[in-house]
Amino acid sequence: MYFIEELKIQATFDSLTGVYNKNALIKELNSEIKLTLRHGHETSIIFIDIDNFKDFNDTHGHLLGDKLLADFAGLLRQHCRKTDMIGRFGGEEFVAVALHTDKAGALGLADKMREAVSSHKFTGKDEHVCITFSAGISSMPEDGTEATEVLEKADDAMYQSKRNGKNCVTIFSPQFTAY
Ligand code: GH3
Ligand code: MG
Ligand code: MG
Repeated sequence: MYFIEELKIQATFDSLTGVYNKNALIKELNSEIKLTLRHGHETSIIFIDIDNFKDFNDTHGHLLGDKLLADFAGLLRQHCRKTDMIGRFGGEEFVAVALHTDKAGALGLADKMREAVSSHKFTGKDEHVCITFSAGISSMPEDGTEATEVLEKADDAMYQSKRNGKNCVTIFSPQFTAY
């Protein structure tokens, strides 16, 4: 019994950071989409990518890079609502799903997280280090009714933030896909 519970936890959560893994987040998002459509709500997605993380690893080493990822995920969790979901999408990419929240609300949340992260002192080799992230926002049903579609649009908007010089948040707009 304990073994099965343990397997479920391993299949759902990212072992390094404790937030949802990519598959679990997509599954949760697809069930949320059904509720969103049924109840006429809006749900927003914030795609988050740490800026210049490779430089941090190169300077401070992979182990402290791992610690930074875990601390980073903790900060995101701390600054969202209990009902919101946080997932790790890949290496230094995270997604926040803000339930019953429009794009303006999600922008407020993303900026709050951005301030919390940029003012936090992360552990470096011989010093404390400040980092930033870039983010993109999409929402359902406006930008799509399938997890992969809305995630891709939030990712597009995140890349626009990178092009705008990083450490900022961009709301998805269809013209970004023309790049
Ligand atoms: P950008 O601002 O454009 O996002 O640059 P970046 O350096 O953050 O992005 P890039 O994609 O060049 O590098 C991502 C780095 O993340 C490279 C890889 O070594 C590191 N990384 C990915 N997964 C892990 C992990 O689990 N632990 C650690 N320590 N590093 C990781
Ligand atoms: Mg990345
Ligand atoms: Mg990055």
